[in-house]
Amino acid sequence: MGLLTISEPASSKKSTRIKRAIGIDLGTTHSLVASYLDADKPSLLPDQSGHYLVPSIVYYGQSTPLVGWEAEPYLLTDAEQTVVSAKRFMGRSQQGIDARETAQLSQLYQLEAGLDHPMPTFQLKHTTVTPIDVSADILKALKLRSELILGEKVEDAVITVPAYFDDAQRQATKLAAQQAGLNVLRLLNEPTAAAVAYGFDQLNQDQCIAVYDLGGGTFDLSILQLHQGVFKVLATGGDTVLGGDDIDFVLASWLLKQQSLTLASLTRTERRSILLKAKSVKEALTEKASIKVSWNNDKEYVVTQALLDELTLPFIQKTLAICKKTLKDSGKKLSDLDQVVLVGGATRMPCIQKHVSDFFGTVLNTEIDPDHVVALGASIQANTLVGNVSEKEALLLLDVVPLSLGLETVGGLMEKIIHRNTTLPAISVQSFTTYQSGQNGMMIHILQGERELVADNHTLATFHLTGIPPMEAGLARIEVTFQVDADGLLSVTAQEATTGIKAQVEVKPLYGMEQKEILNRLKASYVHAESDKIQRELCEKQVESKQLIMALNQALPETDQHELTKEMYSAISRLEKALETSSDINLLNESFSELNKLAESYFSERANQSLHSWLAGRSIDGLERITND
Ligand code: ADP
Ligand code: MG
Repeated sequence: MGLLTISEPASSKKSTRIKRAIGIDLGTTHSLVASYLDADKPSLLPDQSGHYLVPSIVYYGQSTPLVGWEAEPYLLTDAEQTVVSAKRFMGRSQQGIDARETAQLSQLYQLEAGLDHPMPTFQLKHTTVTPIDVSADILKALKLRSELILGEKVEDAVITVPAYFDDAQRQATKLAAQQAGLNVLRLLNEPTAAAVAYGFDQLNQDQCIAVYDLGGGTFDLSILQLHQGVFKVLATGGDTVLGGDDIDFVLASWLLKQQSLTLASLTRTERRSILLKAKSVKEALTEKASIKVSWNNDKEYVVTQALLDELTLPFIQKTLAICKKTLKDSGKKLSDLDQVVLVGGATRMPCIQKHVSDFFGTVLNTEIDPDHVVALGASIQANTLVGNVSEKEALLLLDVVPLSLGLETVGGLMEKIIHRNTTLPAISVQSFTTYQSGQNGMMIHILQGERELVADNHTLATFHLTGIPPMEAGLARIEVTFQVDADGLLSVTAQEATTGIKAQVEVKPLYGMEQKEILNRLKASYVHAESDKIQRELCEKQVESKQLIMALNQALPETDQHELTKEMYSAISRLEKALETSSDINLLNESFSELNKLAESYFSERANQSLHSWLAGRSIDGLERITND
């Protein structure tokens, strides 16, 4: 998903007291919270032991869930009731989960597809929790921590999400926040939060920024453009199964190999134990050249930084291939980049810093701890949104729609209502009318995507507008409003203007779209642009032809022996045949024009202007469009 930052006047006047709001980095591996303890700059809020990071782990073996460091030991002693990496499943369907991910995660716990809801649930010994529940428990712990430190109730929060999170994943995050008693001021993209923490928006000059984020289990690269105080994501690319965990995995495998063992031969608890050991060795090697390790037996092995570098290299190369591709997608060259920012705990590794710096050919921004930078940016944004910042300095960050939104039209075509890359919040209204006399309802099928045919796009929701009083075709006036809020969430309303009947749907799509899928869809729309255009023309012509035939069949007197009428009947047959037997647009065009010409002379002869004008309309899924805003 792309995003924009626009300058907006701050909503409140200068206040002498700071209004409390927090910024939360809700990570797959770790989460953090930051806020303004004084008016000058944001600070990370620690727990009572001084830890800023909260492992994103929840233990459900007690009456109240344990979160973070308290939950971590249970990974070894009661793994069946301990949930990690819940963020991976937020707003995603069981089917959408990558096989590699399932393989990696099924080693850790039981995953079951939800019955009432599409997200997989964690089936624990005594209870079942959803990814939303787990995230809500983590958020609750962060809220509580903030309240203890700030000494007052805290509700307003900015929560960060990966730039590629789609509507379903954002919805799920918002639901988790509500469940935790938080008021979400804004969902903010993680790379933008990092750029804000570095204050690039305050530099008063255009910048092109690359944000390289390597966390525990995910990698992403975003290319942002800052132009006249406005941020825009030009491209984002990544891998949802690539991160520090992979390095733990290869290091653990190496250690086991020294003992002639493999990960597959271990129990679940042993696996977690060796992976945790590998993680701590990896982290220690960021500071040290070598370290002695023993696991499960007395023998010690020396692991050097050089060995770790060697084991890590294939993963770094994978990230660099993604960087190359994403940069290309953004239309920028390496030399266009003004800043490269590192985000995520894994970027602390010296070999990663070296290779990334070599790749970009520049000095990296590492002054802000890569673990802290996203939460700090989020709290800067939260502070702005509650009005603690003067009008001059205030910047509000806005997203753009990643894929077009629209509805199904007659003939199985998609009509785009809000176009890709429209700045949020966005609203667009289109008016339709009924297509058939006496029509008392209609189904509205909401779609996301760039392709022309419904079948090639992604269904977000369907809903019905019912209770339209029987009217002549063309008299009802139905306004369909698409509204996307600043968090990228869509609601669609349909209202019949003459009677005021209304139906509305908040789009909570059944399943989310993966970053890869968004890119694939975009690619497909380019690849198929020409054939889609032809297909659209064909569908439209088919619909037009059917309408013409239907109208003529109704209007033509059966017994009329007029030469023109007879001619028209045979032209109708030819057009019907063309519709049935051919997908050749030229043949259809020919037969249509022939009949249309005859119809025109027929109606001008009979001066039946009302039918004539009715025929000129264009129908849409039982609706006929009047205007196109
Ligand atoms: P996420 O955004 O997925 O929550 P984080 O940004 O917290 O992830 O990164 C977690 C990853 O960073 C883990 O794999 C962890 O081992 C790694 N990491 C944290 N500190 C270090 C360090 N000092 N050296 C190497 N890796 C580290
Ligand atoms: Mg992160």
